[in-house]
Amino acid sequence: MKIEQKIDAAVAPLREKIRELELSFTQKYPPVKFLSEKDRKRILITGGAGFVGSHLTDKLMMDGHEVTVVDNFFTGRKRNVEHWIGHENFELINHDVVEPLYIEVDQIYHLASPASPPNYMYNPIKTLKTNTIGTLNMLGLAKRVGARLLLASTSEVYGDPEVHPQNEDYWGHVNPIGPRACYDEGKRVAETMCYAYMKQEGVEVRVARIFNTFGSRMHMNDGRVVSNFILQALQGEPLTVFLFLPSDLVNGLVSLMNNNISSPVNLGNPEEHTILEFAQLIKSLVVSRSHIQFLPEAQDDPQRRRPDIRKAKMLLGWEPVVPLEEGLNKTIQYFSRELEHQANNQYVPKPKAARMKKGRPRHN
Ligand code: NAD
Ligand code: UDP
Repeated sequence: MKIEQKIDAAVAPLREKIRELELSFTQKYPPVKFLSEKDRKRILITGGAGFVGSHLTDKLMMDGHEVTVVDNFFTGRKRNVEHWIGHENFELINHDVVEPLYIEVDQIYHLASPASPPNYMYNPIKTLKTNTIGTLNMLGLAKRVGARLLLASTSEVYGDPEVHPQNEDYWGHVNPIGPRACYDEGKRVAETMCYAYMKQEGVEVRVARIFNTFGSRMHMNDGRVVSNFILQALQGEPLTVFLFLPSDLVNGLVSLMNNNISSPVNLGNPEEHTILEFAQLIKSLVVSRSHIQFLPEAQDDPQRRRPDIRKAKMLLGWEPVVPLEEGLNKTIQYFSRELEHQANNQYVPKPKAARMKKGRPRHN
C-alpha cells in the first residue's frame, strides 16, 4: 500500500467522526425554513434578548430570515437566545442603542427599552435616553440603509385613560412629571420621532401600541401582574394587586411590519378581567396556599385599560388566539422551572474544613 493510501485509510474514520460532529452541530438548532436570497431579509431586533424580543427572534429565525439581535442585557439575558448562538443566520451583538450603530439591514424591530415599572423606574434618565436617543439612532440607521422600522410602543402612551376602551385616535392622559413619565413620555417622543422621520426623511415606520403581555422568558422580578402573582402563589406569599394583562403578540408585530399601515395600531387582548378574578384564577391554577391581600395603589397607576383592537382586526386580520388559561399554565410551568433552576444554583456553604481543602467557593 502506498503511503498516501495508508494515510487516507487512517484519516477516513476521523473524517467520518468530523462529519457526525458537524451534523450534530447543525441539528442542535430548532428547524429553520429555507428562504431564497430574494425572500430572505436581514432583520435587526433591538432588545432581542428580552421577553418579547426573544420570542420574535424565534419566529423570524424559524421563518428563515437572518436575524441580528442587539441588546445591552439590562433586563434581557443571553439564555433567552442561546439556542441560536452559532447558527449561520444569527448574530448577537452586545450594544447599547444609546450609542450609534452602523450595520446593514432591511427591517428593524425596535424593542430596546425596559418595560416593567420597577425596571424603567430604576434609572429614569437611562430609560429616557434609551427611548429618545436610542430611537433617534435606530431611525438614523433606518434612514441611512433604507430599512423599515417598527417601534414597540405601549398602551402606556394612553396614560391613565379617560376613555374606555382605548382606540388609536385617543391622545392619552399622561402625567408628564409622575414616576411613570420617563417611560410613558419616552415612548410618546419615540412615536413622535418615527413620524418626523417618516414625513421629513421618507423613512417607512410602523408603530405597535402593545398592551400588557405575559409568558415564558418574562423576567422573574419583572414586577408586572402575571409574574408577581405566579411567583407569590408558588412561594406561598400574599398576592399583591396592581395591573391588567393579555397576550399573542409576535404574529401581530410581524404582520404589522409587513403591511402598509403606517399609523399606530393597538395590539392586545380585549378580554377584560378584574385583578381579583385574575388573582383567583392564578391561585387556583397554581393550587396555592397564598391569600389575596390588597395594598394601597401606586401613584399614577392606570385604573382601567382595555384595547380597542378593531383596527388590527380589520387591517391586519389579527386577533389574539391563545386562551388565557393556556397562556397562564405555560407561564406557570416556566416560572416553576426558573425557581427550581434558581434553587439548584444557590450556594450551600460547606463545613469550614472541607471549604479550606478545596479552596475558595464560587458564588453563581
Ligand atoms: P424586556 O425588558 O424583557 O426586554 C427589553 C430588552 O431591551 C431587554 O433585553 C433589555 O436588555 C434591552 N434593552 C434595554 N435598554 C437597552 C439599551 N439601551 N440598549 C440595548 N438594549 C436595551 O421587556 P419586554 O417585555 O420584552 O418589552 C419589549 C418592548 O416591548 C419594550 O420596548 C416595551 O416597552 C414594549 N412593550 C412590552 C409590553 C409587555 O407587556 N411585555 C407592553 C407594552 C410595550
Ligand atoms: N445613526 C446610527 N447609525 C446609522 C446612521 C445614523 O446610529 O447607520 C445615528 C447617528 O449617529 C445620529 C442619529 O442616528 O446620531 C440620527 O441620524 P441622522 O442621520 O438622522 O441625523 P444626523 O446624523 O444628520 O444628525
